[in-house]
Amino acid sequence: MTWQGIEGHDAIAARFAVAEAAGRVAGSYLFVGQPGVGKATFARALALALACEHPAEGLTACRQCASCIQALAGTHPDIDIVEKPPERATIPLDALIGSPDQRLRTGFCWRLLLRPALARRKVSILLDADHLSDEAANCLLKTLEEPPPGSVIILVGTTLERQLPTIRSRCQTVRFGPLAPETIAAILTHEQSTTADEPGVTDLSGIAQAAGGSLQRARLLLNDDVAVFRDRLLTLLAGQPLPGVDLSRETLTVVEAAGKEAPLRRARLRIILEQAVEFFRASLRQAAGGSLPADPTMAAAVQRRQLPGEDADTCLRHTLDALTGIERNANLGILIDAWSAKLEPQPSRG
Ligand SMILES: [Zn+2]
Repeated sequence: MTWQGIEGHDAIAARFAVAEAAGRVAGSYLFVGQPGVGKATFARALALALACEHPAEGLTACRQCASCIQALAGTHPDIDIVEKPPERATIPLDALIGSPDQRLRTGFCWRLLLRPALARRKVSILLDADHLSDEAANCLLKTLEEPPPGSVIILVGTTLERQLPTIRSRCQTVRFGPLAPETIAAILTHEQSTTADEPGVTDLSGIAQAAGGSLQRARLLLNDDVAVFRDRLLTLLAGQPLPGVDLSRETLTVVEAAGKEAPLRRARLRIILEQAVEFFRASLRQAAGGSLPADPTMAAAVQRRQLPGEDADTCLRHTLDALTGIERNANLGILIDAWSAKLEPQPSRG
């Protein structure tokens, strides 16, 4: 059973259905969970159902009423979705409260105050809540504190730690867990069967295992360049000693092959570094006598390298730092160079 075609989050859907039946849907929600598990997709489906004129049992939209038709076309006057422009580091203040000459006469917070035009209520979704500047977050506080009666605000972020305490305390938190590998494999199989591309050439269950619960990561791994490089990356990371110069050069080549656009390059570097994080975490577990990862390629690399726990911990921290650097829009070439150099064994000081 999947709720409105969304895999893996039936329990959360059931909670909303109970809340709606009891008339206890809250005014402000904060969705958190790692990227690519379906939080934004869920938020959109929830908006559809909350706005539907005749929702079926279990809070399922009828997909036929005037409200559903507009929502499915993306033109619903009472469903508002704001996200960070890809080229910006944060959500612009103007998107929330209007440009300086239109202050508080346009924007997310202003639109929320309007009476619903079509649906039973207004549903406003703010994606990329991790990227709210302090100023923008402060503008949201009053809206979150006293949302107009019946309206629902959904903020979508990745972790609670990345939200300001003032935002967290005003929202009901909904945690989205990682997707099971079987769920990811089933979605990928379905997607491949509905596209014109030649199906069946890729090891879908292997990719589902390697994706760490994220459908987004699985889709990126499906890309041939990335899938091929993943094996190469694990070979490099398992090298004794680790070939830092090769790692740097080859990583940059794959990142640049993603295209000229910065968001595409950043997404690709993120997935490469996430694989490295997995490798060092697994090495750390192995050094502590824990079990090997389920993914056989990863397990083989970890066993080959036999990294001592202390070194695995240091490398893990350097890799997590590099991941944070991507978010800060750092120069990717410099970032990759610095990361690779830090992973190389340091000459011992006599
Ligand atoms: Zn409907």
